[in-house]
Amino acid sequence: MCKLSAKQEFIDEAKSGKVLARKCKKCGELHLATVYFCQNCGNREFENATLEGQGSIATYTIITVPPAGFEKYTPYAWVVLKLDNSNLRVSGFMGGIAKPADLPVGTKAKIVGFDDRGILIEKQ
Ligand SMILES: [Zn+2]
Repeated sequence: MCKLSAKQEFIDEAKSGKVLARKCKKCGELHLATVYFCQNCGNREFENATLEGQGSIATYTIITVPPAGFEKYTPYAWVVLKLDNSNLRVSGFMGGIAKPADLPVGTKAKIVGFDDRGILIEKQ
């Protein structure tokens, strides 16, 4: 499998609210990106694992001065979602967040899609 198709697979899974991870065949450690060695045990063999894109907000940054092309989306936050049932963290876009009170850390959230903003995350 080439890297391009692996990325497309990841995007397709995100569009259906899931996360494509790489699972070490030896120890079961999960990795988000394509890796050559398991970060836990050094093994080189992996298999795909599809995870539910649900979790809780670990941290985030509220964007009030957006990059070019993102003006129409403000206010929004760039959030880090810690997935339930694993230690993986996925970062993505959450709209409608203007101040910290809008999004307490620990808020339950889920992946709802993928587009030019990246992974789209909404409160559950
Ligand atoms: Zn391993």
